[in-house]
Amino acid sequence: MERQTNNSTDKFVNITWQPNPKIKKALHKQIVDYISAKVASGDWTVGSKLPPQRELAKLFGINRSTIINAMETLKSYGIIDADYGGGTKIACNTWSLLMSSPPDWNKYIASGPFKPNLPTIQLINRLEFDKNFIRLGTGELSPQLFPQDMLADIFRTLPAKISSLNYLEARGLSELRESLVQRLALRGINVKPSNILITSGSLQALQLISVGMLKPGAQVYTETPTYLKSLQVFQSAGISFTGIAMDKSGLVPWKIGKVPNGSLLYTIPTYQNPTTLVMTVERRREVFDFCSKHRLPILEDDAYGELYFDGEVPPLPIKALDNSGVVLYTGTISKTLAPGFRVGWLVGPESVVNRLADVKMQMDYGASSLSQWALTEIFDSGAYDEYLSKLGLQLKERRDIALEALDKNFSDIAAWDTPTGGLYIWLRVNSKISSDKLFQEALNKNILLNPGSVYDYKENKNIRLSFAYANKEDLAKGIATLGDIIKNYG
Ligand code: PMP
Repeated sequence: MERQTNNSTDKFVNITWQPNPKIKKALHKQIVDYISAKVASGDWTVGSKLPPQRELAKLFGINRSTIINAMETLKSYGIIDADYGGGTKIACNTWSLLMSSPPDWNKYIASGPFKPNLPTIQLINRLEFDKNFIRLGTGELSPQLFPQDMLADIFRTLPAKISSLNYLEARGLSELRESLVQRLALRGINVKPSNILITSGSLQALQLISVGMLKPGAQVYTETPTYLKSLQVFQSAGISFTGIAMDKSGLVPWKIGKVPNGSLLYTIPTYQNPTTLVMTVERRREVFDFCSKHRLPILEDDAYGELYFDGEVPPLPIKALDNSGVVLYTGTISKTLAPGFRVGWLVGPESVVNRLADVKMQMDYGASSLSQWALTEIFDSGAYDEYLSKLGLQLKERRDIALEALDKNFSDIAAWDTPTGGLYIWLRVNSKISSDKLFQEALNKNILLNPGSVYDYKENKNIRLSFAYANKEDLAKGIATLGDIIKNYG
């Protein structure tokens, strides 16, 4: 209700409004809302003065006790600063003060049991999407290798083959599991569809195991260094790691020592991440025998097993030795084809598969059914095997580009082995530069690295160099620049 202005001079804010006794809102509340709105809109600035209470009562046409009531509320919000001697002033125009204060999100964020990523990994995850960087560490296939034509063929005919995109049974699409049974048999793993759980990437299998099968405080043995150390999945479930040394044949099982109940051995025997080491046939048998004897379950991660080139087929998985249910085995489509499918699989005894399927149902009701149908078709049509053999040739070409650039630029500052599969070269750098410093210096030259220390139990100066991701030209250029950085450091 707009009325006469207060006749006091510029000294006081201009008030041309009165509360309306006919509406339901209490008079003092109407005054609080009016003054709050004037401040929030910027009409009344910080430091401007309100008329004395007696005059306010007159202007608003109400009694003084209502004014006192309204002033107290405004004071409690921090909007006015009432010093009755010197008058009442507008103290704050922050809009948030007019509302109740928000929850303390930082406290909540720090409270969840899941640990944050290592800062270096957080930075890598962010900078991977900055187009200015040459990605020399990324464990993915280059977009140049994306099989556009093969997928176009598959997706053209796919809709006619999909019966629905409803939720699937807990273990995943039965057609895909049937198809995997055939594929696994080719690698010596003889199981039934009921032994397979389809997961949303093989990382999810690791998470399901960490929360569904291990007690907080349990021991997980891993190779040193290992992919698992770059994650916080197991640590977030309160699980401790013990690193086991490798020699040229792979993880050395007799270094494991006494095994507490409820422990697990995690291993990547084929094209190990990050070293690309292949565990020998004999060592696979030794690891299997050691673990069988000590009733220590093996979690065999075979993310890279199909990525061989150079005509050297790697040994069969450890799981192929297993006729007593010692080994849980994981596979994925992420490294050979595309992580965007988010499809992986876990193979194990039915009791384990059913338990983890039940946990998975509570987490996400299953991996993408669209991806599962597509993958079934990719496998069953024969397109995948055809694609894999071509991919091998391209990876070999890229590996050779990387090796040539290394020979040119790194021969006196690093050592490496020639990989016959996988995506990486494990560069053992021989220089004073720490891996953190090298990571930073490389960033300054727009090169993104995966420093070896994120995979290790101790500081190391190694680099997990990926020959799979960067453009071929960038690959050679990036390696040369990296060599210069190290040499300039002395
Ligand atoms: N295991 C290993 C050894 C890996 O290197 C990766 C990906 N870096 C994964 C599992 C997880 O891959 P995904 O969840 O995409 O299957």
